[in-house]
Amino acid sequence: MKQARVKPDSGLNLRDKPNGKKVTVLRHNQVLEITDEVTFYRVRSKSGEIGYVHGNYVEQIPPTEIDDTLTGQELGAQSLLAPSEMYKTTIFSGSEFIGERANVDCDFVPELNRVNVYAKQCEVKIWVTSSTRNINQQVLGAIVPPATKSCHFVGHAIDMNVMYAGKLYNSKLLKKSNLSQLPDGVSTFIQCIQDDPVLRWGGDFNTEDPVHIDDNFYFRNQLMYKAKLLSRVQQLNA
Ligand SMILES: [Zn+2]
Repeated sequence: MKQARVKPDSGLNLRDKPNGKKVTVLRHNQVLEITDEVTFYRVRSKSGEIGYVHGNYVEQIPPTEIDDTLTGQELGAQSLLAPSEMYKTTIFSGSEFIGERANVDCDFVPELNRVNVYAKQCEVKIWVTSSTRNINQQVLGAIVPPATKSCHFVGHAIDMNVMYAGKLYNSKLLKKSNLSQLPDGVSTFIQCIQDDPVLRWGGDFNTEDPVHIDDNFYFRNQLMYKAKLLSRVQQLNA
């Protein structure tokens, strides 16, 4: 059993949940049993925002895995990928998805299911304009030195327009600075994507890309990103 002692001379507020209501005041030096550890991390995003995130929603990356390059050797290696690391393409057909069929990696389906739920709640339709991006020679050239990291290359991103009450909201209308001008359904949908623990809305990127939604796959798991990309390249070459 883990124990802890109250430090401040003046005592310490006991709350019903993190940042919640005060229940009582614990005395200085009082011994407590730790029944659960809730961790927050102070973090900085790639675009420079600093703040706190709940530890349940981030996965720590061991330092050795942080490596921006997929080497030619890795690309050429006939490595034996575990089935879970394989890029496996599927067509996502959510009830609220229209436009081009979203061709994505199987592992991205749970995220798209959530996008579909948000769309339903907000009464919007998702008009997909692109999903998995072609790997051409130019892309491969870019992969060997610093990887492009785009979720589109491993089927973990979609580009979309939002359709609401028969009107299509495109890249220009969905701009972050324009959000407050949009109907509730559209702005709430974007808010749902922003609030999702995994999904990212491209409108929040340094270089705004408001039609883009991904699951931050590269930064969440660089080894898996490489494995998927490698697997995809192998499938294309097969
Ligand atoms: Zn995109």
